[in-house]
Amino acid sequence: MTLSTDRTDRTGRAPAAGARSSAELIAAESGVLAHNYHPLPVVIAGAEGVWMEDVEGRRYLDMLAGYSALNFGHRHPALVEAAHRQLDELTLTSRAFHNDRLAAFAEGLAELTGLDMTLPMNTGVEAVESGIKVARKWAYDVKGVAPDRATIVVAADNFHGRTTTVVGFSTDPVARNGFGPYAPGFRVVPFNDLAAMEAAVDETTAAVLIEPIQGEAGVLIPDDGYLTGVRELTRRAGALFIADEIQSGLGRTGTTLAVDHESVLPDVLLLGKALGGGIVPVSAVVARREVLSVLHPGQHGSTFGGNPLAAAVGGAVIGLLRTGEYQRRAAELGEVLRDGLTALTGQGVVGFRSRGLWAGVDVDPSIGTGREISERLMREGVLVKDTHGSTLRLAPPLTITRGELEWALSRLAAVLAS
Ligand SMILES: *Cc1c(COP(=O)(O)O)cnc(C)c1O
Repeated sequence: MTLSTDRTDRTGRAPAAGARSSAELIAAESGVLAHNYHPLPVVIAGAEGVWMEDVEGRRYLDMLAGYSALNFGHRHPALVEAAHRQLDELTLTSRAFHNDRLAAFAEGLAELTGLDMTLPMNTGVEAVESGIKVARKWAYDVKGVAPDRATIVVAADNFHGRTTTVVGFSTDPVARNGFGPYAPGFRVVPFNDLAAMEAAVDETTAAVLIEPIQGEAGVLIPDDGYLTGVRELTRRAGALFIADEIQSGLGRTGTTLAVDHESVLPDVLLLGKALGGGIVPVSAVVARREVLSVLHPGQHGSTFGGNPLAAAVGGAVIGLLRTGEYQRRAAELGEVLRDGLTALTGQGVVGFRSRGLWAGVDVDPSIGTGREISERLMREGVLVKDTHGSTLRLAPPLTITRGELEWALSRLAAVLAS
């Protein structure tokens, strides 16, 4: 499939005989799929770069990028090629055996992050769970915390995924309520509040776990100095600093990692989403050797973690980031995004926060809910996702051009003006 950037130019996707329409597919899904999402009423059938196409051949600019899993756009040629090549060689061994792709993947992550060792997993929340396990084990084996007493300090309004342990320390009632009993051992403090964090940290603290920028909460950016403060505070307290960069990392904010904005190196980094290039689920715990060395054979594992297909695609993602091109694009186009949103402030936008190609935009609630604005943008050919009431999250692929970004902003302006 080839897509031009003019969305009035239909590719003429010919519906196969008997193929179902978008409306029919949406109705069919409703009966057979759990309703744990509330998707926009659009059924995507193909995509390339920043453009997606629905079943009827309508084209949309992707301003969500799979919640940053598609930082390099849909079907980036280098990533698709790496996947194809690996599909023809080897896809899975389990970690019962070595595979010939894993060493290079972990070496690449070490070089990219400045840390030493990698624990490969699959989904983001598995990296979070694995980071929690490693931090607790480190607290008992290295720090000397009494058995089963380890605590982890987290931030209010966090989003770290959906498992039972992780929703237990969420402060979002929709994500949390109804799934107890919740795992103990977590202390919640306000985000961007070093004094509160300092007060919560004590001799039982294994780690502080935060998102350097809170994505799901609406792209909340802490004050300058917060990350440095967390680094100093945890070092003083002899606790680990775990940065969940699953959404903020890998180029999104204009640097490889969001912690790079303060030149801070955490003890443990959690990566996911874009690490799989939008092709396969790939996540990783990347940490100092002293930390990951607490794990011994049998104490943790994953059947698919570190599989050769994931390692090959992840390795190709690291190769793209090594060029610096995507970080640079995010930084430069981030200025265009910020200027555009500044111009819309007072014109339907009541406030926004942005860093790189990532923005949380609060729209005037009298114009509509975030959901309603998203639906109107969909009809204009722009796909975004609302988060929490009247906030839109903008996170296009880092491959977007300036012209495409300005077009998306013009569609937002039109929707807010109507
Ligand atoms: C998406 C996300 C996760 C969970 O990742 P999954 O792959 O959905 O399990 C964890 N932390 C952050 C910051 C995320 O954005």
